[in-house]
Amino acid sequence: MAPVTKPAHDHYDIVYIGGGSGGVASSRRAGSYGKKVAVIEVSPNLGGTCVNVGCVPKKIMWHAADLRDKLLHHAPGYKFTGVSDPTFDWKSFKPQRDAYIRRLNGIYSNNLGKENVEEHHGFAALLSPNEVEVTRPDGEKYTLRTDKVCIATGGRPTIPSDDQIPGASLGIDSDGFFDLEDQPRRVAVIGAGYIAVELAGVLHALGSETHLIIRKDRVLRTFDPSVQDTITPWIEHTGVHLHKTSNVTKVEGTKGQPLTVHTDKGEKIEVDCVLWSIGRHANTEGLGLEKLGVKLDKKGDVVVNEYQESTVPGIYAIGDVQGKALLTPVAIAAGRRLSNRLFGPEKFKNDKLSYEDIPTVVFSHPTIGTVGLTEPEAREKYGDDAVKIYKSNFRALYFSMVPEEHKEPSMYKLVCVGPEERVVGIHIVGAGSDEVMQGFAVAVKMKARKQDLDDTVAIHPTSAEELVTLR
Ligand code: FAD
Ligand code: NDP
Repeated sequence: MAPVTKPAHDHYDIVYIGGGSGGVASSRRAGSYGKKVAVIEVSPNLGGTCVNVGCVPKKIMWHAADLRDKLLHHAPGYKFTGVSDPTFDWKSFKPQRDAYIRRLNGIYSNNLGKENVEEHHGFAALLSPNEVEVTRPDGEKYTLRTDKVCIATGGRPTIPSDDQIPGASLGIDSDGFFDLEDQPRRVAVIGAGYIAVELAGVLHALGSETHLIIRKDRVLRTFDPSVQDTITPWIEHTGVHLHKTSNVTKVEGTKGQPLTVHTDKGEKIEVDCVLWSIGRHANTEGLGLEKLGVKLDKKGDVVVNEYQESTVPGIYAIGDVQGKALLTPVAIAAGRRLSNRLFGPEKFKNDKLSYEDIPTVVFSHPTIGTVGLTEPEAREKYGDDAVKIYKSNFRALYFSMVPEEHKEPSMYKLVCVGPEERVVGIHIVGAGSDEVMQGFAVAVKMKARKQDLDDTVAIHPTSAEELVTLR
């Protein structure tokens, strides 16, 4: 079904604002129950952050970076010759990556059509809990009447204002990273979370001189301390210039020209690109939420209960806009369950997403996987005496043939509680962690005990087997 430019129905069962991960998944599920459903997306392309400027292009860039790492640092150890200077052709790779994303945009649109979900393009705002106004790109407006509305507008990168940090606007954010036509020769990445670690890792591995500027002394401070302690020194070891306990005070220069980043430690860092990655905030401006009584929290996220219900009956919110666990599979899972509960069969009448034990991966080099409680969280929740830690630092077999300075670290850790040693957290760093984590997340979700892991026969030789052989 091609996008429409005016409503095809007088009345809808539900209208989604935002055609990203959450909006598309939830609307398709609602459509599959035979409901009258519309999705309104302000961008010309469906898929939202994940498809266009997030998970998908990021993972493609991570694969490119991983390949260069292997060619440059690992292949010689395996006695491959002729790969001493692999150069990445960013300029010709970007259009190829973009073309793939355009194909995905088309697939998303087709998938909406398959479930008879009407696709609208324009800026959406609520006039009342039952009326959504669409402003089309040509300025024309029309209104959709509906029983229910789901806010699935996601979020966007936060950048300091020029008043806060003079010259801040000379920098780009993660959206801008995916627009870069050329690889920056020198780059300063500011931030210490997922995006900073992932994009600094990609840029460094692809050969850019990379400066990572962090406010504290470690990256990924919301992760288990053993993860932070493994990955932070390794990032430094690989040659990323890690500027610890540094705050950017000023950026000087002209857009498109070399820039100078000043920090409160008196550093002057000369780069070609400044990339802010200091967090994201919800897209709620202009939606008309406050005047309808939809409560937002201090950060601007839509406040919802466990059923994704906002403070106004009939208005729901899913995904990044509700501020909890900003991950694509979370937006999808919450959205599908919402539609099951609202429109599905009786067995789904209490369907909702549990926000506990959500597994997640950081696509660093090497990757990091985590699920459940960190060690400090477990100690806080259950008390020191109840917590038992199993941990191993090791080198994966793959690195036995790789020169010492390029042998990546692996750290596997189990956080167990109580006399039955229930596994409440798993934290792993090391090549392949992104693929290892999913299965072990099932074990945690099923409330596995350490003994259940011990009773599972190892798969040899792998890194994953460490998790069932820890002593
Ligand atoms: P979005 O996907 O952002 O969709 C919201 C949509 O609403 C957008 O298309 C927007 O244009 C539209 N919209 C906003 N306002 C309006 C309006 N008023 N009217 C109409 N439309 C509107 N998650 C992972 O799980 N794994 C990863 O590897 C991963 N990597 C990431 C890498 C980066 C660089 C970034 C930025 C994010 C990454 N994420 C990752 C997070 C993931 O992208 C988000 O959690 C996910 O996209 C959230 O989905 P959503 O539906 O809530 O919002
Ligand atoms: P995060 O919240 O992960 O990290 C931002 C970090 O930046 C903070 O933790 C903070 O670290 C630092 N920071 C905050 N303010 C400042 C400041 N003013 N100056 C310097 N540093 C600052 O945000 P991201 O933007 O990295 O990612 C947003 C979310 O998107 C993630 O939380 C994640 O849910 C999702 N995402 C998921 C990915 C995946 O699944 N692989 C990949 C990318 C994003 P500190 O306090 O230590 O200074």
